[in-house]
Amino acid sequence: MKYVIDPHTHTIACNHAFSTLEENIQCAKQRGIELLCYTEHGPRMPYAPPDWYYEGLSMIPSDKFSIPLIIGIEANILDEIGTLDSFDLPEKWFNFVIASMHKHTYQPFEACSNTDALLAVLDNANVDMLGHIDAPYFAVDYEPVIKKAAKSNTLIEFNNASVHGVRKGGIENMRQMAVFCKKYDCMVALSSDAHLCHNVGVFDDVLPILQEANFPQELIINTDVDKFFSFLRTNGKNV
Ligand SMILES: [Zn+2]
Ligand SMILES: [Zn+2]
Repeated sequence: MKYVIDPHTHTIACNHAFSTLEENIQCAKQRGIELLCYTEHGPRMPYAPPDWYYEGLSMIPSDKFSIPLIIGIEANILDEIGTLDSFDLPEKWFNFVIASMHKHTYQPFEACSNTDALLAVLDNANVDMLGHIDAPYFAVDYEPVIKKAAKSNTLIEFNNASVHGVRKGGIENMRQMAVFCKKYDCMVALSSDAHLCHNVGVFDDVLPILQEANFPQELIINTDVDKFFSFLRTNGKNV
């Protein structure tokens, strides 16, 4: 099976990644990716771009590259009631919205508070994917979150960078996530979360986790560009 969409990537614009958008697109194309999402960090991430950067994203000609590009954002979850740092940016600027907890912008609370935060985020119809909920330092009760994500058409991310990067230690969490996604027919996405072009489209570390779980292919969004567009349209995105 081919996985032809990478829904989560960063560029030098966030000040802690190392490649340009053009470099990411070239690497994606070489790796056989057919659709790329560019999802820069939200404005509360330390050294994030200024507000006028997000407005400027509309000037990127998304259909003029060698593969289609979706402009999105990785918004920061700020608190237990699910506030996102993209709240004062117009929704129409982003056609793919990831909501993630990061150490820099969210305190690790108890599992019940983290779970409440994610459940609240799932009430936000603009959110398309929960990012790296495997993070070992943010305990989460996965079952209610994934059950609700399935109902709200929100993807659960299997983030390749988690396995070898800053969130090391979340593999057991991903195994649990796979069990509940399967149980509740929740759609999932493989992502690279690449901060360097050479990692774009690389899912090698998370794929075995889904394979071990005998995970149904039809619940993986990355297999078909049309399926991804249809998913986005269902969520009200103008693509
Ligand atoms: Zn993240
Ligand atoms: Zn990211």
